[in-house]
Order: sequence, then structure tokens, then C-alpha cells
Amino acid sequence: MLFGTDEQKARWLPLVARTHVSAFLLTEPDVGSDPARLGATATPTEDGTGYRLNGRKLWATNGAIADLVVVMAKVPEHDGGRGGITAFVVPYDTEGITVEHRNAFMGLRGIENSQTLLEDVFVPKENVIGKEGDGLKIALTTLNTGRLALPSICLGVSKWATKVAREWAAERVQWGQPVGKHDAVAQKIAFIAASSFGLEAMLDVSSRLADDKKADIRIEAALAKLYASEVGWKVVDELMQVRGGRGYETADSLAARGEKPIPVEQALRDMRINRIFEGSTEIMHLLIAREAVDQHLEVAGDILDTETDLKAKARSAVQAGRFYASWLPKLAVGEGHRPGSYDEFGALATHVRYAERASRRLARSTFYAMGRWQAGLERKQAVLGRIVDIGAELFAISSAAVYAQTLQQEHPERAKEAVRLADLFCRQARRRADDLFDDIFDNDDDANYAVAMEVLGGEHLWLEEGMLDPAER
Ligand SMILES: Cc1cc2nc3c(=O)[nH]c(=O)nc-3n(C[C@H](O)[C@H](O)[C@H](O)COP(=O)(O)OP(=O)(O)OC[C@H]3O[C@@H](n4cnc5c(N)ncnc54)[C@H](O)[C@@H]3O)c2cc1C
Repeated sequence: MLFGTDEQKARWLPLVARTHVSAFLLTEPDVGSDPARLGATATPTEDGTGYRLNGRKLWATNGAIADLVVVMAKVPEHDGGRGGITAFVVPYDTEGITVEHRNAFMGLRGIENSQTLLEDVFVPKENVIGKEGDGLKIALTTLNTGRLALPSICLGVSKWATKVAREWAAERVQWGQPVGKHDAVAQKIAFIAASSFGLEAMLDVSSRLADDKKADIRIEAALAKLYASEVGWKVVDELMQVRGGRGYETADSLAARGEKPIPVEQALRDMRINRIFEGSTEIMHLLIAREAVDQHLEVAGDILDTETDLKAKARSAVQAGRFYASWLPKLAVGEGHRPGSYDEFGALATHVRYAERASRRLARSTFYAMGRWQAGLERKQAVLGRIVDIGAELFAISSAAVYAQTLQQEHPERAKEAVRLADLFCRQARRRADDLFDDIFDNDDDANYAVAMEVLGGEHLWLEEGMLDPAER
């Protein structure tokens, strides 16, 4: 829809809308998070009519049953074109395509996921999507709004968890009262309910922005993916604790004993993958952090770059000086410092003011981190991860306040409860953000990294004494 020619759209879209199952073949056995290094090749044929595709693709969802697939493969530089990673639309019954294996996973057991071999698969040049070399750009662009599908799933599971936790914690009695009334369990119920509100808020705000089509929502969608997959996972983990042994028991086993078949263990298994696919948490941290420091790199990149000569550094310092002279003070004092601002958010104004103040603090911290580690900041992934996670919490806090307002307008009968949930969610999120702030410059990252390198280097092997080969069955 986004990059196809009119002919391609007329030919393929009605099929995928009606009868054809489609799949997306990017990942390979040796290429996961770093798709730029993919090994599948697309060699132009001598007569110029198309390409021959070769390679092995791993973990293609729907790939075991697909009719039509999009394959990413690298075209070598050649006379007629610039080459590079390119997207091809390929009917799956084309000669040379073999589904070698249907993969099975911890969760998502219903998906038809394949390992697929491509051997000299002929694809006519009409089937190139976009231009040669545009493949990764296309893949990333489709992720912009596509990334909102995954947080929607996490939100759905989180709402389901709220229902299960509420019903079970009220019904199950231990030590003379419903388990939900014991403080430790009550804390979990509050976390689950507040998180459901927070995730819904973030998704609602991001989706409305996407529908608006006015703003580039790349960062919002990425933050929503990162945040919902992490918070959603904690939600189902806490739900399992609330359900106790029944949380760990399978639905079939529960049913066989005559109990309600509530599949909490399945939800946990299904939710875990969200932190890995569509951009793992670690990769999302890097991707979002890059956007955050990009502006700094633009104005101060030469100063930070150890390769730049002194003259260029000096020139850059003058430019950067001008920029930061007006930028830094703006971060120290602003709207959030004036009492009474954001009054339109009522009881939630205090949280919006916090988000604003904390945004400035975050920008300052990012700037100081750049000063402290200079170009090495790129390798300080734990620090970058915290910076991004704070950004996600602040986005979530702002979203919660905005969504409470939306509910007041669209569902006045829910207004009071919305404010109550938004307030609780913001309190929890602020505490998490404050902890992350504390850890930016005061942490054990270096000690951790040093020991990790020792472990990788084969020191401390005695810790593994008595362990069998992990692959032994
Ligand atoms: C159920 C399922 C469905 C999938 N569906 C599809 C599909 O339809 N189509 C498709 O093409 N692919 C699909 N995938 C592949 C999925 O997108 C990859 O698993 C994902 O990109 C991660 O790659 P990897 O597993 O090879 O991990 P690796 O890239 O090997 O990473 C291993 C670990 O290292 C971390 N890591 C990697 N690089 C860095 C770095 N630079 N800095 C810090 N940490 C890093 C990762 O976050 C991860 O924790 C699917 C996978 C699964 C399991």
C-alpha cells in the first residue's frame, strides 16, 4: 500500500484482502537485529528481465502457509542499478522455494512460522517494491504505524489481566480474607489496573496522532512498542503471582480438575516474545536514543568526534556555543516552574508539570552524559537505556493526563474514575522515572561490564561446575 506501483497494488492487494496469506521474510539464521548485513542475494539475470534469489530465511510468521511473501535480499552493484537491500513481492509457489521447517515456540503456538530456503528463485523486475536499495527504508517505514499493533495486543492482555486479577483476588480466601485484601496482593492489583490505564492512554494518544496524519509518530510508536511490551510483561507476571499455583497450571489441567480454565501461563508465554521481536528492547533503546542525541550530534558532533581535527572542532565549538547558550537556560526555567500552569488538567496538573520539569532534566542529563562520555556514550547502552526509559515514562505520564481529559469529554460518566486511575498511574510512573534518574550517573554499569567480559573470557568457570551440556537431552 505504501510503496507499490499502481499495477502492483491492483494485482496483489485484492488477493491479500480476500484469499492470500502473506508473510515477511527478512530475518536469517545469521542476521537478526542487524538486518543491514543480510546474506540473501538477488542477482540480476543477464537478459535484464528479473532477478535470481538465493538464501535462507528464518522465523517468517505465516511462512509455513503463505501464498504471497515479501522477501528482502541484497542486489549486487551492477550496470543497470545501484544495488543494495531490496524488497521483492514473490508468489510463494514460485519454483525454488522450500519450506524447510515449521518452527515451534514457547508461546504463540498457533502461528505458522517457517524456515524457508530460496534456491535460484526467479522474480521478474516488475516485482521489485520501490527501488533497488530501498528495502530497509521500506521495512522501517512500515513499522511506523505498524508498531502500534503490538502495544494494542499488550493492552488487550493487560485489560484481561485486570479482569482475572479482580475476580480471583475477590473470590480466593486465605488466612480468613480474600487474597486481594492482603496488602502485598492489593499492591499488585493496583499496579495491574493502573498499568492498563497507562497503556491505554499511551495507545490512545499515539493512535489519534497516527490517524491525524499530521505528525511523524515514529518516536511515539517506538516508545509505545518498547513500553507496552515491558510493562505488559510485568503485568502478566504479577497476575501469575495473584493466581498462585493456578496461574502456573495450564488451562487444560485446570479444566480437567473442574476449575475455570483461565490460561494465565499461556498469557505469560505469549507475551514474552513482544520484548524480542519487531525490534528488541535493546534495539529500541538504541534507536530511540539515537533520535534523542541526534540534535546534539548535529550541533556538537565535531567536538565529540575524536577523529575531527582541531580547527574543525574549534569552528564547531563556536556554533555549538551559540546553540547551547540559548538552549541550556531554557532547560533550567520554563513553563513547568510557574505555579498554576497546566491548570486545565485539574488534579492531574501536578503530574503534567512533573513531566515538563523532568523533560528538561532529562535533556540536561543527556547533554551532561554526552559531555562526560563524549563519543563513547554510544557504547554506554545501560545509560542510554535509562534515558530512553525515562522518556517513555514521561510520555506515558503526559498521555495519562491527556487521556483522562479525553474520557471526561467522551465518557463523562467515567471522568472521576479516569482521574483516579490516571493519578495512580502517574504516581507509579514518576517513582520509576525518579529511580532511573538516580541511576544515570550512579550505577554499577562499569563493574557489570568488566565482570561480563571476564565471564565471556572464560574466568569464573568454577561457577558452572557440575553443569551438563545445556543441549544434552
Ligand atoms: C515468534 C517469532 C516471530 C517472528 N516473525 C518474523 C517475521 O515474520 N519475519 C521476520 O523477518 N522475522 C521474524 N522474527 C525474527 C525477529 O524479528 C528476530 O528474532 C529479532 O529481530 C531479533 O533477532 P535475533 O533473534 O536474531 O536476536 P539477535 O539479533 O541475535 O540478538 C540477541 C540479543 O542481543 C541483543 N542485541 C543485538 N544487537 C544488539 C546491539 N547492537 N546492542 C545491544 N543489544 C543487542 C538483542 O536485543 C537480543 O537480546 C520472528 C521471531 C520470532 C521468535
